[in-house]
Amino acid sequence: MIVKDKVFDVLFNVERPGRYTGNEINMVVKDKDKVDVRFAFCFPDLYEIGMSHLGLKILYHMLNEREDIYCERVFLPWFDMQEIMKKNQIPIFSLETYSTIDEFDIIGFTLQYEMSYTNLLKVLELGNIPLRSSQRDENYPIVIAGGPCSFNPEPLSSFIDLFVLGEGEEVTLELIDLYKDYKQKKYKKEEFLIKASQIEGIYVPSLYDVLYTKEGTIKSITPKYSGIPKIVKKRIIKNLENVYFPQKMITPIIEVVHDRVTLEIFRGCARGCRFCQAGYIYRPVRFKNKESLKATTINLIKTSGSNEVSLSSLSTSDYPDVELLARDILREIEHKKVNLSLPSLRLDSTTLELLREIDKVRKPTLTFAPEAGTQRLRDVINKNITEDNIFSTIQTAFEMGFGNVKLYFMLGLPTETDDDILGIYDIAKRIKDIYTKTAKRFRLSLGISTSFFVPKAHTPFQWEGQITIEEMQRKARFLKEKLKKIKGVDYSYHDYYLSKMEAVFSRGDRRLDVVLENALKLGCQFDNWSDYFDFSKWEEAFKNAGVDYSFYSDRIRDHDEILPWDIIDSGVDKEFLIKEHKKSKEAKTTPSCFDKCSLCGATTFKGGICFAKV
Ligand code: SF4
Repeated sequence: MIVKDKVFDVLFNVERPGRYTGNEINMVVKDKDKVDVRFAFCFPDLYEIGMSHLGLKILYHMLNEREDIYCERVFLPWFDMQEIMKKNQIPIFSLETYSTIDEFDIIGFTLQYEMSYTNLLKVLELGNIPLRSSQRDENYPIVIAGGPCSFNPEPLSSFIDLFVLGEGEEVTLELIDLYKDYKQKKYKKEEFLIKASQIEGIYVPSLYDVLYTKEGTIKSITPKYSGIPKIVKKRIIKNLENVYFPQKMITPIIEVVHDRVTLEIFRGCARGCRFCQAGYIYRPVRFKNKESLKATTINLIKTSGSNEVSLSSLSTSDYPDVELLARDILREIEHKKVNLSLPSLRLDSTTLELLREIDKVRKPTLTFAPEAGTQRLRDVINKNITEDNIFSTIQTAFEMGFGNVKLYFMLGLPTETDDDILGIYDIAKRIKDIYTKTAKRFRLSLGISTSFFVPKAHTPFQWEGQITIEEMQRKARFLKEKLKKIKGVDYSYHDYYLSKMEAVFSRGDRRLDVVLENALKLGCQFDNWSDYFDFSKWEEAFKNAGVDYSFYSDRIRDHDEILPWDIIDSGVDKEFLIKEHKKSKEAKTTPSCFDKCSLCGATTFKGGICFAKV
């Protein structure tokens, strides 16, 4: 029986069969036997998560524009489906042609969060593909990965043949063209990988030797052969006006996490929050043109049937004339009963007015991310938001009738004391007082949410240690007790253990490969879902591998230690990160790229905001 028949035979026995049927609006149909390169885009999580991801849709449609390439999608099936697949000997399959993943030339994973690493291994296992790159010769597909986590690819380096660093539109096509050439020549895998490593933005981990000191830190990372780059520089698209963006997008037929068409309005972030990896690895800021954004919105609404458009970026308010853009788009879509959403919007009286116009019926929840409870700590992390900003906006919001407020903070930030945590309580108390004085005609819903600081590669805090699990518990309890004194405040915090594992893998090295294999054997998957995350299994995985996880998560590094990701050039100089790290110790701030260039090194890309200002 072919895979498709086997799948359809069992679909009525699983939760949400629509995850496995494909056939959505704008799905690309081609004859798989008439293309030169077959590419499986794997999102290592559930369909509903993967289909909410803009990057998947861009690359999917971009690759499929080429007649010689067929890009298909693969998602990790949920537990119930995996069980049935095992029983009925159904390997993991693509949604377009129900092909098994070993039929593809290239399997491309996107790495959006560290806790998806065992999901990735599970996809390979369900496809009967050997996990380790060294166990796969040219008879297997080339396994590649990209996305933000590839900026520290080392924990996955034994499993992935090559990583694509930075923005994938140009480099993926260059890689596929090279592959096509080698495929015709009946290539040897290592020859292909050596050649691929010459493409800027491609990192081939198997081509490097890593040596360790007796203390366990890295002694050296050296290319195995001459001609292999000593440092791999990320790729960016210099001018976003020339970059491909789909004018129609695959639209799910079942409800997904973000059920809308998403428009990317710019890339990068000018702010420089010292804990935020995205703020550094996507530099420099580059804007898209307003007219083309409007035209794309109209096309996407026409072609997708979606009833929501979202303007996406790391900091929407930084788009020049964002209110004008939003109002123009609103005019185009309002009469079609399509909603507009503006995530990552900095709130003030102008944007509140805009939000009221956008949603005349409901009053959306207002979200603020001060991240820290005191101005001192906000200066340490370079978070450019003051309490006056928050309180005056909230006062206006209450006067306008907004009653749902949510604030995001981080616990365990470098230099944090209990006074900083008390500052979170003070902010919540003050908001409640403002409500009591100005509003009262509606019920206030005030949510405080905290996550735990996770030091990330390529940020000024990459040398910092994460606090222990016991300290996380103490800090969260301390804040909870304080917040209990304010009636009506809803407090939630991120899982301690999950935060600890994120810290391990975000700065881990290639010796974590055995831990990941152990975790897979112990059944760890869908770990990003706290209901399915089992810390005791991870503890066992580390124990069996003889690895102390606190070496990766809690340890403070010296500035001269060789870091596992030092081989990767994000465009921001290490000297700049060290300078920023030192400034954080003195609570000194750095202006945003809009106010003054701080010469971080990103001018090397010769585009974007750096050149608009120089
Ligand atoms: S070089 Fe200057 S303007 Fe460009 S990203 Fe760095 S700090 Fe910002």
